[in-house]
Amino acid sequence: MMADLYRGLDRFSSLEREAILSWLRTTEPAELERLFIAADTVRRRTVGDEVHLRGLVEISNHCRRRCAYCGIRAPNRALRRYRMTQDEILAAAEEARAAGFGTLVLQSGEDPQLTGPYVAGLVSEIKRRTGLAVTLSLGERSRDDLARWREAGADRYLLRFETSDAALYRRIHPAADPEGPDRFALLGTLRALGYEVGSGVMIGIPGQSYQSLADDILAFRKLDLDMIGVGPYLPHPHTPLGYRPGHFLLPDSEQVPNDADMTYRVLSLTRLVCPFANIPSTTALATLANEEGRDLGLLRGANVVMPNLTPERYRSLYEIYPNKACLHETAEFLRTTLETRINFLGRKIGTGPGSKKIK
Ligand code: SAM
Repeated sequence: MMADLYRGLDRFSSLEREAILSWLRTTEPAELERLFIAADTVRRRTVGDEVHLRGLVEISNHCRRRCAYCGIRAPNRALRRYRMTQDEILAAAEEARAAGFGTLVLQSGEDPQLTGPYVAGLVSEIKRRTGLAVTLSLGERSRDDLARWREAGADRYLLRFETSDAALYRRIHPAADPEGPDRFALLGTLRALGYEVGSGVMIGIPGQSYQSLADDILAFRKLDLDMIGVGPYLPHPHTPLGYRPGHFLLPDSEQVPNDADMTYRVLSLTRLVCPFANIPSTTALATLANEEGRDLGLLRGANVVMPNLTPERYRSLYEIYPNKACLHETAEFLRTTLETRINFLGRKIGTGPGSKKIK
């Protein structure tokens, strides 16, 4: 049975850099179709037809960082800041459980007011009340904080490395502490602490080359990630990258476009190199290409959707990029509309926590 499962996967999972580059660059529709079909076939054989729903709660848009791409960066004075109360977060967790989601994802800017002890208390209370799997995505935190949260019951941590091109990364992501660990080191710490580890990149960052994007995909395999989030870079006008994009762009033949087509290619290649990973069809993709785009993501390698459960009064303030998709729905509405669409694709909503099937 296991041998059956693996037969044929090797051919894809060992893809080399040149093959990945050629898929990223091809202009042949038939070639692309072959890639999408291969990814969907691998997805069905490895993670199956279940689509796992992760309820996303954006608990604070305060951030001490100055990332050149992100709308909630500290220097953006045009943004009204919020931090959800513990009661509000617990209510969102109950809502997620009632709507049948298996996982709650707590995400925020890098907010020093979300202290180690506070988040640990929050996690254990969510676990006690709901039993949901808890994923944290709270930025670059100390080993002590990460260990404390794991002990409190956090199951997973998401920290995208954004790009594997070190020079580009330094330009768009100024270090908080130049002596501190980089994101790759933190991913190792998370793994050592026993988290399921998620990472990923943005696609089409001004200055991102095809070669570096191929290296990103190879890094997914090397890191043996449990969860991989890839979404288009979307310019925000109140950021250095969004304000003057032309300033950073490479020549056309080298610059990766930040469009839906490139996102589908990367989703499919990610599925081929990491056949068992949990891979969301991201909100950024839905922002660019609507619900049809999210569906296509699910048909081209993805097996996870992360509906937004942030209370409506805060949702538009978590503006990492403009016009974010799904701004105004409740958990119940999201669940029923998503279920209809997912069933229409011949898939079903996943039950339980939806952890990675094989490590
Ligand atoms: N502060 C945490 C961190 O940096 O990991 C979590 C929040 S951060 C806003 C979550 C992700 O949003 C980032 O990893 C980045 O990939 C994505 N993001 C930020 N700005 C974006 C933009 N302009 N377009 C697309 N994705 C963006």
